[in-house]
Amino acid sequence: MTEEHTVHPLGTGAQILLSSVFGPYAQDDEYGSRTINPMELYHNQVTRVQGSFSLRMFHRSFGLMMIQSNIDAPCTLLDFPSLDRFITELRNHSYDVVGISSIIPNIGKVRKMCELIREYQPKATIVVGGHIANKDNLGDIIDADHICKGEGVRWFRRFLGQDTNEPVRHPMVHSGFDTRIVGISLPMRPGNTAAMLIPSVGCPVGCNFCSTSALFGGKGKHINFYETGDDLFAVMCELEKKLKVQSFFTMDENFLLHRKRALRLLELMEQHKKSWALFVFSSARVLESYTIEQLVGLGVSWVWMGLEGKESTYQKLKNVDTRSLVGHLQSHGIRVLGSSIIGLENHTPETIEQVIDYAVSHDTDFHQFMLYTPIPGTPLYEQHRQEGTLLSEEEMPLADAHGQYRFNYRHRHIHDGREEHYLLGAFRRDFEVNGPSLARLIRTFLAGWQQYKDHPNKRIRDRFAWEVRPLRTTYAGAVWAMRKWYRHDDRIMKKMESLLKDLYKTFGLLTRVTAPVIGRYVHYTIKREEQRLVRGLTYEPGSFYEKNAAAIALEKADPAKFTFKAPRIEWVTCENAPAQGR
Ligand code: SF4
Repeated sequence: MTEEHTVHPLGTGAQILLSSVFGPYAQDDEYGSRTINPMELYHNQVTRVQGSFSLRMFHRSFGLMMIQSNIDAPCTLLDFPSLDRFITELRNHSYDVVGISSIIPNIGKVRKMCELIREYQPKATIVVGGHIANKDNLGDIIDADHICKGEGVRWFRRFLGQDTNEPVRHPMVHSGFDTRIVGISLPMRPGNTAAMLIPSVGCPVGCNFCSTSALFGGKGKHINFYETGDDLFAVMCELEKKLKVQSFFTMDENFLLHRKRALRLLELMEQHKKSWALFVFSSARVLESYTIEQLVGLGVSWVWMGLEGKESTYQKLKNVDTRSLVGHLQSHGIRVLGSSIIGLENHTPETIEQVIDYAVSHDTDFHQFMLYTPIPGTPLYEQHRQEGTLLSEEEMPLADAHGQYRFNYRHRHIHDGREEHYLLGAFRRDFEVNGPSLARLIRTFLAGWQQYKDHPNKRIRDRFAWEVRPLRTTYAGAVWAMRKWYRHDDRIMKKMESLLKDLYKTFGLLTRVTAPVIGRYVHYTIKREEQRLVRGLTYEPGSFYEKNAAAIALEKADPAKFTFKAPRIEWVTCENAPAQGR
């Protein structure tokens, strides 16, 4: 296993397979899958106790897609394969390089995949990357030839002898798929789902626990794929045209930190009258450094923000009243996903209730709770390593160190696995006090519409108009159904009642007529989904099989070599996935 940069002897003539780790994911198995750690970002760590109201959706392996789009070698991407599907691919096609991307909890799967590659394709070079690359002694645990640490596009270009400084080609892909809420699958229609936009990776703020920041260099470091607002605008126009989208899920750890780029983007959006919506990640102080006019002008419609915890000492939160910031953003139609940590150094069994109450009092549209978890590569991990407080892998298997179960170290004050109880308590409290996230985001949408429906700038008016369109019908129906669902919970029922009245008042007769009709159906789907969940239903992502232009050309040139035909997209949805308790 080497880490230095050799160039593959075949250069861009090498045939490459890139794969994510195999599923199914939402089950307990010997390879490290865990029922409580499904391949669903929101259901995994944001809405996990919200039952049928939980936002269920999957996201592609964007890092692999980025690499595939930026190398000249023939490259096939296998995303979310089953173990059998991965073996079938190795049996049927010959590859010179096989790349696997993974997080650390999936290390058992990566080990298995490396063994299979050695068995079926002993001549192939194995490259392993993603967050797993920060694990120390990784080369002793898995049988790989190269560990790609950090950014993979440059790594692969260099490995194939390409110019590493060529402009980055952005993959044309939606941000999510198989979205489901209140027991209803949302169809993938043009305009329904945001495009994925990846302007940069890494975050220079460098919080001690942040594995994403650590992966791309840590404090003071980040990598821009697009340096300027002009570059980014060009990519967004292409995404808009090819995917027919108006919204962009901006996968950049701290998008607004790159102020010059963001403000230039704003200028261009103004100039070209783009009524786009942006979903961004941003730290609190950076958000505060923009005026609300700038944020609304940029189309910031949803923000993922670290609240971390009461009295946390992170600079990014210094002198910021996060509760008032959240309220302010929501009053301008900006939905907020707040992220809080359970188990900071100063958290004790005596103070944890206050910690949770404080987080819940933000009344964010969504709330992520994560255990304070030292992940290899981060300063927090190094600190625990030096203090000798990390648990051994026998005491705490890597597959369980995903931040939604137990600490992987000895906490100063919280012992005996109580953290799991506190974590679940935080999710439950947030759900009980603030109600379903679906209702909260509808409330924020409505506030935005009330604030901006008569805005003098048509571009801004238009954005709110297209964003709130479902409020008149489907969302109003969902609120009607939630009011009925919560008829035995006076407090939440009154919240729904008041929200529904506001919707009726704002949107008039059409909404009054359609809400009960749609609402009755939604109430039925909520009930049906709750029953399914009680029976143990889990969801798995479909499996994707995609070739880049060079791989397609190769196949056309010599079809005899490619007798095995796999469909481009192989759906393995809940309907035909191995039944898990259904
Ligand atoms: S601000 Fe957010 S993204 Fe940046 S280092 Fe801190 S936790 Fe990570």
